[in-house]
Amino acid sequence: MPKKLILIVIDGLTPAAFELAADDDRTPALKFLAANGAYTRGVSTFPSLTPVCLSSIATGAHPDVHRVPHLVWYHRDEGRIVEYGSSFAAIRAVGTRRALLDAIFNMNEQHLGSDALTVFEALEDAGYTTAAINFTCYRGRQRHASAVPAVTRRPAYAPKRFFFYNLFESDVTGAPLAIFSRSAGSIDAYAGAVGRWLVTRDGFDFLVHYLPDYDFASHVTGPGVSEEALLRSDAAIWALIEAAGGPDEFLDRYAVVVCSDHGQTRIDGTVRLEDAFDGANVIVTASNRAGMVYRTEGTREDSRQLAARLDHEPGVDAALFLEAGEAIARRDGEELRFSRRASGWQTSGDPALLPHPGAFTRAWAALHNPNAGELLVSAGDGVEFDDLGGRSHLGGGSHGALAAADSEVPILTVGLDGAQPTSITDLAPLTLRHFDVEPPAYTRWLADAA
Ligand SMILES: [Zn+2]
Repeated sequence: MPKKLILIVIDGLTPAAFELAADDDRTPALKFLAANGAYTRGVSTFPSLTPVCLSSIATGAHPDVHRVPHLVWYHRDEGRIVEYGSSFAAIRAVGTRRALLDAIFNMNEQHLGSDALTVFEALEDAGYTTAAINFTCYRGRQRHASAVPAVTRRPAYAPKRFFFYNLFESDVTGAPLAIFSRSAGSIDAYAGAVGRWLVTRDGFDFLVHYLPDYDFASHVTGPGVSEEALLRSDAAIWALIEAAGGPDEFLDRYAVVVCSDHGQTRIDGTVRLEDAFDGANVIVTASNRAGMVYRTEGTREDSRQLAARLDHEPGVDAALFLEAGEAIARRDGEELRFSRRASGWQTSGDPALLPHPGAFTRAWAALHNPNAGELLVSAGDGVEFDDLGGRSHLGGGSHGALAAADSEVPILTVGLDGAQPTSITDLAPLTLRHFDVEPPAYTRWLADAA
């Protein structure tokens, strides 16, 4: 039997913050794990926003396969905006209940592509027991009734052991309520309490322990200064170690991966992306540091003409679109063309237009998502796009762009064989191989493309 495996995802944790914590006595769990593991700086997907990233972690796919395009996007078949939660104002703009149903249920049941296989589905098909705490890309085989019928009676299909912000609880753990006073860190505290219960009962083969409070704090304060939040995330991890009987016993029982889903960039300016498309008859979905532009029946300009509207917008790092089988990145009227060939990336134009980590693979995959806009926009240094509710994180932190600060993530593996992962899309196949389960074919495609 392979060792049981725990995947810990600290949302928005930058490599720099992780590397400091790895040498800090105030974060004993991360320090202990770092001292016993192998560490790399890895890369996220694009847009580097949580619904997209967690779908990549769960499936080992980029958005061309998993099909979750952005935090906010236009659903062409249903003729409506899907908003997973850019801000309370943006949620109100599309209707609170609709946004919650999209974020909790529809993303997993409808938006997440049927060609993608989640790590929960693959492992439970092979007879393993999987568990997830608060992880928003949770699609699995087991039906769970709502724990709060007053809020929703809709069931969720998820891992066998499934804990989701008190809304779904497959087992009675006595963990405190997670959904209130978020700034006090109660979501990570809930995850710690549920995790302690699961470890104490040895109740899984594979657990995803998702800790969102650090990202929440980083949006408010900016990257790298949310130390207090990281102490709480660390405490939620330490709860697992204690429940196993101590550090040595913990590592005897479990292999561990610690990672984040994306980074964070300090924000000192905002752009209302819609303003650039006045009169163009397009639908713009912008949030954080990424935007999408969807053509409609009334749109007369082609994708290049739409991209050219951003030529003199200093807040835009790159406008991306497809043309005749090639991807094109445009900035200030300059273009870089790239396409994937069996022999590797074929490019023409100035590669300095896309100097970001994994940019070709990530931009290519984002553009080939059928749910994406015809035009994708990656924000420039320090710039955020206003969301549907007109909100931003000015003075704080944000992410979503192709830039390194948004895109680099810490990846620590403890007790795992094989090549060290370098992308968040490596984590699902790494997990499956650990359990002797063959990863989906699309993950081999990715390994070749890198
Ligand atoms: Zn975030």
